[in-house]
Amino acid sequence: MRKKYLMTPGPTPIPPEVLLEMAKPILHHRTPQYQAIFKEVNEGLKYVFQTSNDIVTLASSGTGAMEASIVNLLSKGDKAIVIRGGKFGERFAEICSAYGVEVIPIDIPEGNAPQAPIVRDTLAKNPKAKALYVNLCETSSGSVYDIKSIAEITKKTSTVLVVDAISGLGADDIQTDNWGVDIVVSGSQKGLMMPPGLAFLAISQKAWKAMESSTLPKYYFDLKKAKKALDKTDTPFTPAVSLVIGLREALRMIKEETAEKMFARHKKLADATRESVKALGLELFSKSPSNAVTAVKVPAGIDGEKLVKNLRDVHGVTIAGGQDELKGKIFRVAHLGFMEKFDVITAISAIEIGLKELGYKFELGSGVKVAEKMLAEG
Ligand SMILES: *Cc1c(COP(=O)(O)O)cnc(C)c1O
Repeated sequence: MRKKYLMTPGPTPIPPEVLLEMAKPILHHRTPQYQAIFKEVNEGLKYVFQTSNDIVTLASSGTGAMEASIVNLLSKGDKAIVIRGGKFGERFAEICSAYGVEVIPIDIPEGNAPQAPIVRDTLAKNPKAKALYVNLCETSSGSVYDIKSIAEITKKTSTVLVVDAISGLGADDIQTDNWGVDIVVSGSQKGLMMPPGLAFLAISQKAWKAMESSTLPKYYFDLKKAKKALDKTDTPFTPAVSLVIGLREALRMIKEETAEKMFARHKKLADATRESVKALGLELFSKSPSNAVTAVKVPAGIDGEKLVKNLRDVHGVTIAGGQDELKGKIFRVAHLGFMEKFDVITAISAIEIGLKELGYKFELGSGVKVAEKMLAEG
């Protein structure tokens, strides 16, 4: 017997109530029964995305929505500004390049957040840039970006602001309408407590208008087709019925908790995780740490890949390592979605045990002690 603990920034654990919903017999999607569910899900999504804009739901992983935000807005030869501070900023740039869009990169060192002046300058130098692509949480470095200040800049221009909130949604605040974010992209397997397979785009009027002139090729991800169907509470193709039914339950749970308390919970878990790893003598990787995931520098003399592997294969606790150049140099522990205090305490305990086994010198329990102190009440 080995109990498993999933503590990665996607996929994340799924509440039993949601799992049971998804086990129910399939419905046909062109029925009033399914339509009622889809309607409720659309309302629930608007609550989480903090918007009254249309939200398109696609049957794909999050990257499908990233691609949709490019092929529906842009045309070959267009310019797009892309903030690249890690793997997921790079992904936007890669998709742009694949479609012949000219990328104007704003490169920032991994673990840093983009500052408003450089965004303002780049936009001023490239007033023809049709869109600006940025992440809310750059999951690869555990960094949250200040979307509010970026939106203040794009709001006054014709440039469409597209934010990848795939991992950030639900953990790091994003006030789509209040801040003036044009497109917010997300996926199901992170803060929304669902399996992978659904992707979302919240789309403003400014973004819909900008889409009218786009000529990049698209078919399955044609958002105009999706919008036409959405206006009739329908989808152009067969939706992922069981996932949408599961999502209704997950969204009900979020509504019951309230968005305010959900953000407060993520902040509390993130704070406790950061302080606990610091108490172990470890350093955070990010200068702007996200409330979705904590990236931690692997201490000198310790093999970070071995730590992640041992925790998974010997102890049943799955955390994430570093990707690409950060392989072996950081580990990442998520406190995202269906998580509460004992999940953080378990994660810190597992990290302590794993580090001890690899010969790292520290007092066993010193991290857990901090986590328990910080999380005990509430
Ligand atoms: C997970 C993630 C993605 C990729 O999503 P997929 O569902 O794997 O396609 C993109 N961006 C960010 C910030 C992510 O965390």
